Amino acid sequence: MRFSNLHTHTTFSDGKGTVRENIESAIKKNMLSLGFSDHSFTACDTSYCMKLEDYEKYCAEISSLKEEYKDRIPIFLGLEKDYYSDIDKSCFDYIIASVHYIVHNGVCYPIDHSRKQQEDCTREVFHGNILDMAKCYYDMVVEHVASCKPDVIGHFDVLNKFSIMPENDEKYIEITCEAMKEAFKYCPRFEVNTGGISRGWRKDPYPSFYLLELLRELGGEVVINSDSHHPENLDFFFCESAEILRRAGYKTFSVFNGKSFDKINL
Ligand SMILES: [Zn+2]
Ligand SMILES: [Zn+2]
Repeated sequence: MRFSNLHTHTTFSDGKGTVRENIESAIKKNMLSLGFSDHSFTACDTSYCMKLEDYEKYCAEISSLKEEYKDRIPIFLGLEKDYYSDIDKSCFDYIIASVHYIVHNGVCYPIDHSRKQQEDCTREVFHGNILDMAKCYYDMVVEHVASCKPDVIGHFDVLNKFSIMPENDEKYIEITCEAMKEAFKYCPRFEVNTGGISRGWRKDPYPSFYLLELLRELGGEVVINSDSHHPENLDFFFCESAEILRRAGYKTFSVFNGKSFDKINL
């Protein structure tokens, strides 16, 4: 089975490989296509994102390599747009919408960088009430998707990354399900993101299995993405993710063709 990956980070943001190194790796892996989605600029934290002055270079380099490699592999120019970024979407082939921060009283709390930062946020912003934090995060996801109208919703329940969230708690499950139903109204396509597994944090991709089942019931689509930060990881856990999707009742997954998404049989 051949795969594509739309969620790829390069040295333009916090990835380890260049654009070209990632393309060469995708060709070696016999992938269908490859999309780049470096982090959009976030003024509240500039340590992981693309520099504002690099946007033009990013777009130019990917467009040039898209042309150079056009007979070998289709390349797409995308962006992982954060909740706190204000970016003109028009020059990109596609947009992944993600929430990475909660900013409160001028303090920026990254929610998927470290366990400590997530714990600090829970304590300092939500007085230790973890469900309040969950509600805040998932509300932000819905708000972001509603205003951005992306092509793909990024790592929907990445808040689970450090296993601090009460994932089996009825109320938590209700918050996540309601948010998925709301977000689905604005974008029916969620990524199955394997980035937490390649970095050793999780055993399963985002979203959790019950959310994948809910999405299928809603009539949603899935895109299998690695959130790769290294060229070797472009298709990390993809075969296993396809199997998880079959178990969740999916018959197809979606692959970008440059303009829209094609459904490929699982
Ligand atoms: Zn992300
Ligand atoms: Zn990412």
